[in-house]
Amino acid sequence: MLKKNKILLEERIPIKTIEEPFCKRCMNNIEGGKTFCGICEFPPAVVNDWYFNNVKCLGKYNYFGINNFKIPINILSILIILVKCKKKTIKSQQYAGKLLADGLFQFFNKFSDVFDSSLYLAFSPNSNKLEKNQCEYIVNPLLKRFKKEGINITDISNRIVRVKDVGKNKDKGRDKRFNDIKGVHKVKGPDLNGAKILIIDDVYTTGSTSWDLSRALKEQNAGEINVLAAGRHIFYNEWIEKEYCNFDELILYFSNLDIDRTKKRIYKVKIKELKEFTLSKDTQIVACIKGSSGDYKLIIDFTNKKIKHDCYDFNQNKKSSKRFCKHITKVFITIRDDKGDQIADSLLKRIYNNLDEWEFNDFNIN
Ligand SMILES: [Zn+2]
Ligand SMILES: [Zn+2]
Repeated sequence: MLKKNKILLEERIPIKTIEEPFCKRCMNNIEGGKTFCGICEFPPAVVNDWYFNNVKCLGKYNYFGINNFKIPINILSILIILVKCKKKTIKSQQYAGKLLADGLFQFFNKFSDVFDSSLYLAFSPNSNKLEKNQCEYIVNPLLKRFKKEGINITDISNRIVRVKDVGKNKDKGRDKRFNDIKGVHKVKGPDLNGAKILIIDDVYTTGSTSWDLSRALKEQNAGEINVLAAGRHIFYNEWIEKEYCNFDELILYFSNLDIDRTKKRIYKVKIKELKEFTLSKDTQIVACIKGSSGDYKLIIDFTNKKIKHDCYDFNQNKKSSKRFCKHITKVFITIRDDKGDQIADSLLKRIYNNLDEWEFNDFNIN
C-alpha cells in the first residue's frame, strides 16, 4: 500500500514525492497562497514563451557537495547520481535507470490528464555525440514499459541534435543558462503535425534545456509539450528535509541502496563483537567485525558525531559521501534484530538528521 506522499519504485524502493505548496507548473517549492514560482511567473527576458505546459517530477533532488563528493539528500537523489555518474559501472546505471523508469511510468499514469495521448518522446542529447546519454538508462526501460502496456509512444530523440556546445550548466546563473542554450537544439526530419510530445529528463532545474528543446520541437510544428523528470532540483539553505524516519528507508539511504543491490554480501558479514550501548545522549557503538585478513574496528560516537572505521571500501569509497560500507550496514541490522525497530530507527535518525555535522573518518587517523 502506498502511504501519502510516497511512491514505491518496483514495489520496494520508497520515494518521497513533493508536497504542496508547489508551483502548479513546474513543482518548484513556493510559499503558500501563490500559484506559480518566481521563475514561472517572471521568466528571464529571453523567454517570450515557455513552449511547454506542465512539469511533473517524482521528488526532490539535491546533494551537498564537499570537495568533489556528493552527499545525496534522499534515496531519489542517490538513484539520479547513480544514473548520472560516468565513473560508476553500467550495471549500477541500469539498476537505477530501471527503478526511475518505473517511477516515471507511475507518474505518467497518475497524471494522465497531462500526459495522455502523447505521441512522441524526446530528450535532450549530449553535445558530445560519442558519449552515451545518461537519460537512455531511464528512457530505454520506460519505452519497454510503454510497449508492454500497449501505450504507443515513439522515441524521436535520434532526430534531435545540438548545433553548438554550451558547456556545463552547473555553475551558471539562471539567465545565463537560458541565454546560452537558446537556439542550441534542432529537430531534423518530417513535420510533427501538431502531435503531443513527452519530454523526459533526469533532473529539472531551471527548465532552460526543456525550454530550448521545446522551442525546436515547436519549430517543427509540435503540439502540446509536457515534461516528466525524475528529480526536481530544489535548493536549500539548510542540510535536509527530514524525509525518512523508519529503519528500512534509512538503511537503504545510508547503504547507498546496497541493502537492495547486494543484500547477500551484507548478510554474510560476521560481527565478532558488538558492545553494549544505551540510548542516552552519550551512546557509543563499538564493534569488531571479521575481515578476510584481520578484523575491522568500528566506533560510532553519537556525542561527538563521529564514525570511525578501517575497512578499505569505507575509506576509499564511502566516507567522503557519508555512506555506510557493508560492515556498518550489518551492525545496524544486528542492532535492529537484537533491540527492535524503535531503537535502530532512532539511532539512524540521529545520524541522518544532523548528517552535515557528522564526520566519517579513517579509524587510524586521529
Ligand atoms: Zn514554476
Ligand atoms: Zn567496512
